[in-house]
Amino acid sequence: MKFETLAIHAGREPDAATGAVREPLHLSTTFKRGADGTYPNGYYYSRSGNPNRTSLEHAVAALEHGGEAVAFASGSAATLAVFALAAPGSRIVCASDCYHGTAKQLRDIVPRWGVDVEFVDVGNLTEVSQALVPTTSLLWFETPSNPLLRVADIAALADLAHARGTLVGVDNTFASPVLQQPLALGADLVMHSTTKYLGGHSDVLGGIVVTRMAGAPECAALRDYQATAGGVPSPFDCWLVLRSLATLPLRVRAQAANALAVARFLHADKRVAHVHYAGLPDHPGHEIALRQMNGGFGGVLSAEVPGGRERALAVAAKVKLFTRATSLGGTESLIEHRQSMEGPLSRTPAGLLRMSIGLEHVDDLIADLDQALED
Ligand code: PLP
Repeated sequence: MKFETLAIHAGREPDAATGAVREPLHLSTTFKRGADGTYPNGYYYSRSGNPNRTSLEHAVAALEHGGEAVAFASGSAATLAVFALAAPGSRIVCASDCYHGTAKQLRDIVPRWGVDVEFVDVGNLTEVSQALVPTTSLLWFETPSNPLLRVADIAALADLAHARGTLVGVDNTFASPVLQQPLALGADLVMHSTTKYLGGHSDVLGGIVVTRMAGAPECAALRDYQATAGGVPSPFDCWLVLRSLATLPLRVRAQAANALAVARFLHADKRVAHVHYAGLPDHPGHEIALRQMNGGFGGVLSAEVPGGRERALAVAAKVKLFTRATSLGGTESLIEHRQSMEGPLSRTPAGLLRMSIGLEHVDDLIADLDQALED
């Protein structure tokens, strides 16, 4: 089945009891046992399983062409669940350009479990190869990455890691399964902050991990962690994300087309020092992105203005249509001075503005940036 069809039908059936075309919200936390002590409908307690969560998990697994999906209360909870698979004494290797919250988990939480962490430039295969020591259990990266929009070669990294017996996990939040499907390129695990494109309307937090094969050992471990750690999304959270998946391909392709037009405008503008966007031919990852992405380069871009922090803050202060806010993937365009959001350990250039391009008319977005860049 084609992606658009799956986006509408996967995980969905009209309600058997009422015929309702959209599935009901199952708020019950507990489910009735049979007289023989069994659970005839497969559910017993909502932390372990809930029909709305099952529907969402089936839908996202189908969109990523994966075996099974495990949903969490946020993208961060999903990432930490994957890191929690690492045994004491093992090592996680992570891309140095990644969501600052992911880096913080690897700096502040994971080492306390006796797991060694190393950050590498995943664009440098020699550096990655050196970091993949025999105890390395996981190679983790985002592509495109947050906030520098770096592109990592999923197939090459998967080959390298698999030759050392290391699992490969890809945070596919920026691309979404519309534009990139890491499992087909060799990754073992794909993760999304469903807060972003999958939710798509800046109104629900969530995260999900998809495994390549149903029944893989990491899948059983994630399922067990989900119920035991308990950081699960509410039924309504799941319902909202599933609702949004129906329009995911339309939204993401339109946002990527808008982002490309905005990137080209900024790239040609003398008031901008540098634009980070894989759709631009001079982006170092452009050729890889052309190969591994399909139908666009995503809706997020970053631009650096000369004059550093003060100038970037001044440009952000002048926007009228963009909203100054963190996050991405919603229908409205957002802009943020990234370094001041990431805090004192940020490695992001001081003059960098990250933009999440929405579904407004692109002429209006460009006009807004044009007036904001005026001195
Ligand atoms: N991964 C990426 C690439 C992100 O951008 C974010 C949040 O911005 C996360 C993970 C964390 O997701 P959440 O905010 O849903 O915890």
